[in-house]
Amino acid sequence: MKVLVIGGGAREHALCRSLSQDPAVTELHCAPGNAGIARVATLHPVDQLDGAAVTALAQELGADLVVVGPEAPLVAGVADPLRAAGIPVFGPSAAAAQLEGSKAFAKDVMAGAGVPTARSYVCTTEQEAAEALDAFGAPYVVKDDGLAAGKGVVVTEDRAAALEHAKGCDRVVIEEYLDGPEVSLFAITDGTTVLPLVPAQDFKRALDGDQGPNTGGMGAYTPLPWAPEGLVEEVLATVLQPTVDELRRRGTPFSGLLYAGLALTSRGTRVIEFNARFGDPETQVVLARLRTPLAGVLLAAANGTLAELEALRWDEGAAVTVVLASEGYPANPRTGDPIEGLDEAEADGTAFVLHAGTRSGADGEVLTAGGRVLSVTATGADLAEARAKAYAGLSKISFKGAQHRTDIAARAAQ
Ligand code: AMP
Repeated sequence: MKVLVIGGGAREHALCRSLSQDPAVTELHCAPGNAGIARVATLHPVDQLDGAAVTALAQELGADLVVVGPEAPLVAGVADPLRAAGIPVFGPSAAAAQLEGSKAFAKDVMAGAGVPTARSYVCTTEQEAAEALDAFGAPYVVKDDGLAAGKGVVVTEDRAAALEHAKGCDRVVIEEYLDGPEVSLFAITDGTTVLPLVPAQDFKRALDGDQGPNTGGMGAYTPLPWAPEGLVEEVLATVLQPTVDELRRRGTPFSGLLYAGLALTSRGTRVIEFNARFGDPETQVVLARLRTPLAGVLLAAANGTLAELEALRWDEGAAVTVVLASEGYPANPRTGDPIEGLDEAEADGTAFVLHAGTRSGADGEVLTAGGRVLSVTATGADLAEARAKAYAGLSKISFKGAQHRTDIAARAAQ
């Protein structure tokens, strides 16, 4: 099987790493990729938002499967010309990707499907926004309706700041605050059959103790020893399957990865958000535990044959990933610094490094090229072991101004 992966972050590196270990995969390509992905796949400098260019590349390569990683190309509709050309593609159509591309659309689908989520108002004027804020009270939750690369959501006690964020967006969703721990649950679907993966938890704030600004995610772990028994079955029955059924009923079937961000509140499980793709950094830990070869699973989703697939097999142990970010992340990440110790971090085989914002320098050195630079992932018999190995690997890597959280999975590992 020849596989082409679209994207160039740590999620795509994790996907490429798993695909490269699948004996069914004979050729692995990635566009545009990064310095780490270059070690396991052939890179192609193609604009990932250009559906015609991606389709031409897939045809030229004779790809048997295209996997679209990030939300931007999905929402831009890159999967559509691929499907029209008869190429199996893992990732939803532009219409179905609106589940992530528009918070208002997602709320409408959830209402239609009877999926539990925060009560909300969609507002387009300052007056409406002010009324919605007062209807719910503090803490205030204000979400830009469109794609905002993790920067669209403000959660604050400060009414003026909440209103300021609302004013900066064309259309906002203002909703009730959901209390309780968060869980990320991914599911692979072909538009009818839904296959949940193992739940994970990520760490959104930049600093230890969940302090500092929101980020794309600073680390993740799986499993969740504290999660209630039967959580996955409950979410499949009340969230994932009804959402997939509703989208099919509307004539916009969703095939690919459906990501439910959940809050386990005192009044029950609620959806915080949907994403239309694998989440970063949870993908690093979820795929680290998947024993079933990945390519066949993604191809079955693309071809609508998931119901025929055997149950997924999982490593019984745990996985932890820790993100190493650049100085100034998330506000003003510094880039262009050489990264030391990448080989040392993987030398004894206990941890592996997945690149996010990196590029190759002129002399073959690896340079920082983004906010989240890389993540170090390890597996172990339990969370304590996986965590110790991930941090041991991380300690070997350095670049100017590197920052990371020291408390990823710490509480869950106790
Ligand atoms: P989102 O992009 O919708 O996942 O929001 C980013 C983060 O903001 C989430 O991971 C939550 O930590 C927080 N958040 C979003 N919506 C709510 C809500 N209704 N109540 C509490 N926290 C929220």
